[in-house]
Amino acid sequence: MKIQSKRVVSISYVLKDDAGNVLDESAGEELVYMHGTGRLLDSLEQKLEGHEAGEKLSVRLTPEEAYGVRDADKVRTVKRALFEDLEPEVGAAYSLETDQGMQTAVVVKIEGDDVTIDMNHPLAGMNLNFEIAIDEVREPTAEELKHGHAHPHGHCEDDDDDDGCCCHHHHDGDDDDHDHCCCGHHHHDGDDDDHDHCCHHHHHDGE
Ligand code: ZN
Repeated sequence: MKIQSKRVVSISYVLKDDAGNVLDESAGEELVYMHGTGRLLDSLEQKLEGHEAGEKLSVRLTPEEAYGVRDADKVRTVKRALFEDLEPEVGAAYSLETDQGMQTAVVVKIEGDDVTIDMNHPLAGMNLNFEIAIDEVREPTAEELKHGHAHPHGHCEDDDDDDGCCCHHHHDGDDDDHDHCCCGHHHHDGDDDDHDHCCHHHHHDGE
């Protein structure tokens, strides 16, 4: 069965940058999504379209096809007060209310009251190299079709914005250091441990 709009697709994947560093991977737990719903990057969905279960694909996305080029204007210095009750931490990502609306920003430097943030997407400016194995392609169930998303374990897991995955993460200063992520998907089945499909650790080591 070919991948096409509304079909439910299971993939395993590894995402690397040009240097071969792994940015994200399915690591034994496949990603299940409904095709054509914007769950993945549009460009990635386009490359998957028409392929079938059992195929393996290498997909390379340019920054333009993925998260855009880096924009120097998105690096700026703000006052610590913008973080309200959060304690900014270099390398961590925050959702901040800015003059451009809610933005996800990674803190790159802190000097007294001045906090330098980078609002570029963590994967901006990068080529994304995916190795993808298509594990399954099936028709959606009536319920999935109605909801507009896949039910990977046979039931709806859409408790929405509890999330935490990725770049819309409000760093709440809690224990662990799962460093937010993101590749356009959420995988939160409410279970405890680490954010399986989260990707990209923000090692912004200062530039
Ligand atoms: Zn649902």
